[in-house]
Amino acid sequence: MTLVFATNNAHKLKEVQEMLPNSIQLVSLKDINCEEEIEETATTLEGNAALKANFITQKYGMNCFGDDTGLEVATLKGKPGVYSARYAGEPRNAENNMKKLLSEVVGVKNRNAQFRTVICLNLDGIQYFFEGICKGIILAKKKGTQGFGYDPVFQPTGFKQSFAEMTSEDKNRISHRGLAIEKLVAFLNEYVA
Ligand code: IMP
Repeated sequence: MTLVFATNNAHKLKEVQEMLPNSIQLVSLKDINCEEEIEETATTLEGNAALKANFITQKYGMNCFGDDTGLEVATLKGKPGVYSARYAGEPRNAENNMKKLLSEVVGVKNRNAQFRTVICLNLDGIQYFFEGICKGIILAKKKGTQGFGYDPVFQPTGFKQSFAEMTSEDKNRISHRGLAIEKLVAFLNEYVA
């Protein structure tokens, strides 16, 4: 079975492909010559993940999954959430996003936050959702240089390091995206068994 992962991130694609049986051939947007930007116009992670998957399934008639991730901060009532990538506006800039976020939680006691990834899978006419959550806290200032996005200001529960101080292997083992992908992979393995 050929399955589109609605991404152009070769690294993400390879990581998921390695977890799937040979009977599932994962392809990227580039592989199917889809060069259009799929606009993330929904107001929820579920909505954006579905937008991506539906665009491909409707236009190309292919099985497909899309993902979307957001950082949900308790004291900000779930913000930046679905707007995480462009929290400080366009053009998207991780430094500015972190600066804005930290300024909004100065002196706030409740530092609780979570990264949440939603995957929407369109498979043989049925739509499925998978979710991965990684809970933690927002640090008072940036720590570490690895990773991307909000990694320097997020410390997962049970760890003394921020995401930006972890190796990518250690982060992937506990991350929102890793957990959502694990659920997707378990489902697909069962589906083709
Ligand atoms: P995407 O849906 O994977 O593109 O993620 C949307 C935005 O959420 C990114 O642009 C980052 O700002 C943030 N984000 C997603 N995953 C992570 C992560 O693992 N660490 C830090 N920031 C993340």
